[in-house]
Amino acid sequence: MSDRLRIENLEVHYPVRKGVFRRVVGAVRAVDGVSLSIPTGATFGLVGESGCGKSSLARAILQLQKPTGGSILFKAEGKEDAVTDLTALSPRKLRALRREMQIVFQDPYSAINPRLRVKTILNEPLRAMESLSATERSDRIAQSLRAVGLTEAALERFPHQFSGGQRQRIAIARALLSRPNFIVLDEPVSALDVSVRAQILNLLIQLQRQLGLTYLFVSHDLSVVRYLCDQVAVMYLGRIVESGPTERIFSNPLHPYTKLLLAAVPMPRPRRGRKAVKLQGDPPSPMNIPSGCPFHTRCLYATEMCRTTKPLLRDLEALHGVACHYAESLAQPRHGGSITANAQIMTMSHASF
Ligand code: SF4
Repeated sequence: MSDRLRIENLEVHYPVRKGVFRRVVGAVRAVDGVSLSIPTGATFGLVGESGCGKSSLARAILQLQKPTGGSILFKAEGKEDAVTDLTALSPRKLRALRREMQIVFQDPYSAINPRLRVKTILNEPLRAMESLSATERSDRIAQSLRAVGLTEAALERFPHQFSGGQRQRIAIARALLSRPNFIVLDEPVSALDVSVRAQILNLLIQLQRQLGLTYLFVSHDLSVVRYLCDQVAVMYLGRIVESGPTERIFSNPLHPYTKLLLAAVPMPRPRRGRKAVKLQGDPPSPMNIPSGCPFHTRCLYATEMCRTTKPLLRDLEALHGVACHYAESLAQPRHGGSITANAQIMTMSHASF
């Protein structure tokens, strides 16, 4: 396959226990039957409100959270014809493959131990992952630091002696140590000042070009996703409701939820008279997902069929999938106005993101 990663029908359900005997009384369906493909060398964006399951999906891909069902097919470097199902690997084989998959977390200060010097922060994972001599480890660490724009002078310092942007560079350097080809970026710039976000994003783009990396970029910030990603999937209550090439999704969103997410993005120069667009209410609990289309409790266009029949993710255009019964008709304005115009009468808060 030309995809670095392919996920088929992935599920992550967390059991809910109650009572003295901790009996299982239900499940939180954080990821509920997700399928997607990430091409080699591409940046794939995963967006949605808080609690939609995007971080659970990212963690399941790296096997930091064991999936309840489905498969994760990964193409390792140098094995162009072979794919490995990560969910079926023994712990020993998974440990060996982990070198090729790394993660960068949102908050660099909590992701790296503040009591350790940078040299220890970088040395320890490298020692655990690879059998290298001390000289080889030093060389590898120096290379990683240079790749993220830091010098070896950083090695003797502690994390608190760096700015937020520099700490995230250290976290990226740590991710690069094992020479991975796939990196999950879990909101990597959300905790940073606006002034340094662009620097980190440009660094990620530069590293991708130099090292041929494949990224899964998890974010709630749609402007950042548009800047960085080649493809996007929009998640709602553990399912993908729309996916496709980034520019197509941003210029012609077809799912009502995607339309509302995009309409809610703050504009740098808001036009006079443009009202805030708000999604109605909070998303339902993933413990109790509505029947039929999970979005029907908040959708302006819900019909009886939406309440009873689950829409499947289907391609409306080449590579542009939508899970909505009425995506074709909603692509055109109807009911006397566009969905965005109608949405302006809804109420929502950005805090729900
Ligand atoms: Fe709205 Fe129905 Fe489409 Fe779901 S299937 S998004 S409820 S119109």
